Amino acid sequence: MSSFKCKICVEKKNLGDSVSLESKICCTCFTSIQIHQRVASKISFYKKILKEREEMTPIRKNKIKLIETMNNIFSFSRGDILQLNMGDISYFIEEYGNNDQISALRFWKGRYSLKTYDRSYFNFDKMIKTIKAYQNRINSSNQIKNKFWRFVNIIAKESKFVVLKDLLKIKLFEYIHSEQKSNYTWLKDFIFEGVARIYEPGLLPNIALYFFNNYERIFSTLMTQIFPFDKERISFDFPTVNSRTDFGLKLHYRYNSQEVKFIKDVAEIFKVKWDEPHVSRFLFINCIKTITGILDEVFKFYYKKLKIRSPVRSIVNISGSQQKSTKKYDEVTYWIALREW
Ligand SMILES: [Zn+2]
Repeated sequence: MSSFKCKICVEKKNLGDSVSLESKICCTCFTSIQIHQRVASKISFYKKILKEREEMTPIRKNKIKLIETMNNIFSFSRGDILQLNMGDISYFIEEYGNNDQISALRFWKGRYSLKTYDRSYFNFDKMIKTIKAYQNRINSSNQIKNKFWRFVNIIAKESKFVVLKDLLKIKLFEYIHSEQKSNYTWLKDFIFEGVARIYEPGLLPNIALYFFNNYERIFSTLMTQIFPFDKERISFDFPTVNSRTDFGLKLHYRYNSQEVKFIKDVAEIFKVKWDEPHVSRFLFINCIKTITGILDEVFKFYYKKLKIRSPVRSIVNISGSQQKSTKKYDEVTYWIALREW
C-alpha cells in the first residue's frame, strides 16, 4: 500500500490513514486538531469574559497562557484538558515526565505544525494546580446559558430589539462580525464549496436542492454555533424545494424558563418597549434572516459568472408562525421561505 508523510506528526502513514487526498494529515492528527480547536475556542471565550469584566490581571493572563500551552500538549495526545478529570490529567502528566521530549501542536498564522519541548521546560506541579483552578471556571463561562445571557445583553444594548429599518438584523450582523467571524466564515465556505460542487456550467446552481440536502448542518451551525441557541431545543422539519433558488423550511425552538427570564430582565434594563414573547420572536426570526448575508454573496457570484445583469439579493419570508407562551417556556415555530429577489 502506498504511503504518505503526515504534515503534522511527520510520520510515515498508510494512504488509507489520511483524512483526505489533498490534506496530507493523518486521522490521528486530525482528531488532535479538532480537540485543540474546541478547547482553544472555550479558552478564548473565557478570556473575552475576563477582559469585559476587567478581571484580566497579569497573574491570570500568565496562568491562562500556561493552560493554552497545556492544550497544545494534551490535544496532541488527544486529551481534552477541559473534559479530563484530575486523575487522568495527572496520569497524562506522569507520562510526559517519563520522556525527555514532549510533543505538542503548534498553531501559528492559521496553520498547525508540530513543536517539541524539552521536559525541563515545564513545571508539572504548577500545571496540575493551574488546570485544577481554572477548568471549572472556563467550562462554566462556556455554558450555553451564559453565552445566551451575554448575547441577549449585547443585542438589547445595541438595538433595544427595534426591528424598524432592520436595526435588529444589522446589529446581529455586527455581532457576527465581531464575535463569530471564524464560524461564519466556515459556514460561508461550507455553502460556497457545496454549491460549487453541484454547479453545471451555464445554469444557475440548484441552491434550493443544496439547502434541501444540507439544511440541518447549515441552520444548526447558524443558530447554535454562531448564535447561542441550544441545539437540544431547536428542530427543523418539512424542507421543501420549489424552484432552483426557492427553499422552504419549518424551524422550531423552545425557549426555556431561564432564557425567558433573561429576555424579560434585559428588556426591563434597556427599557425595551416590547414584552418578552415579542422579543423572543423578533430575536429568533432575525437570527434566521442573517443567512441572507451568505446567500446574497452566492447569488451575486453566480449571477456574475453567468453574466446575468439584473440586480439580485436573497430574502427570507415568514410564511407561517406559531407561538405558545407559558410560565415555563416560550415556543416559537416558523415556516420560512428563502429565495432570490
Ligand atoms: Zn499525523
